[in-house]
Amino acid sequence: MIRIGVDIGGSHVGVGIVKNGAIVDFADRDLNKEDRLNIKEALVNTIIELINEVLDDSNLGISDIDLIGIAAPGTIKNNIIVKSPNLGLFNFDIISELQKTINLPMQIRNDSKCAAIAEKYYGSLKNADDCVFLCIGTGIGAAVFMDGKLLEPKRYAGFEIGHMVIQKGGLQCKCGKKGCFETYASMRALKMRIADVLGIDNDFTGRYLSEKLLDFNNEKIEQVIDEYLEDFKIRFM
Ligand SMILES: [Zn+2]
Repeated sequence: MIRIGVDIGGSHVGVGIVKNGAIVDFADRDLNKEDRLNIKEALVNTIIELINEVLDDSNLGISDIDLIGIAAPGTIKNNIIVKSPNLGLFNFDIISELQKTINLPMQIRNDSKCAAIAEKYYGSLKNADDCVFLCIGTGIGAAVFMDGKLLEPKRYAGFEIGHMVIQKGGLQCKCGKKGCFETYASMRALKMRIADVLGIDNDFTGRYLSEKLLDFNNEKIEQVIDEYLEDFKIRFM
């Protein structure tokens, strides 16, 4: 059984070919400023290009694939992205758009839940029955397992711990509220703090930052990272 997994992040898209639970080929691309201006078209085009790229690399055709699974940030219901503030997407039926070009069954789910399920089946949560999984990226996503089962609330989005207000009248969040956990503890929050120290524009990718940091032996940056971790622990524990 060969499947394709698509990971839509806040600043990048990744596509992998999955055989028996293992990624056998992978390609990804960062989303730039222009992509974000026309995010729907950029996502659809990027995903299709990357799928073609991994299929070519693996000498496979689309007919060899059984299913495409998509992970995206935000609230996903009935295979539709209902609300993804970090991507600026609302009520976007990305599957119908992709199926205009790729005629395969597709499913989409919240990215934190996808990551949590992967950890539960294959990784660090394998032996934990009751646990909370935090997905710290551009925003902060979460999933909760009780008695080994992923909790899926019926009416609400789920465990949007990133949008739990931890600071009254705090930093403005993209969801519209102020003082959300992710405005203090997400990778975006860390990037903004580091951009401040480096005196650079904060519109850069995580990949750019990690490459840049290799060039800096900067005590100030170490201090920012220490403060961020300390802040994270204090605010969450
Ligand atoms: Zn928020």
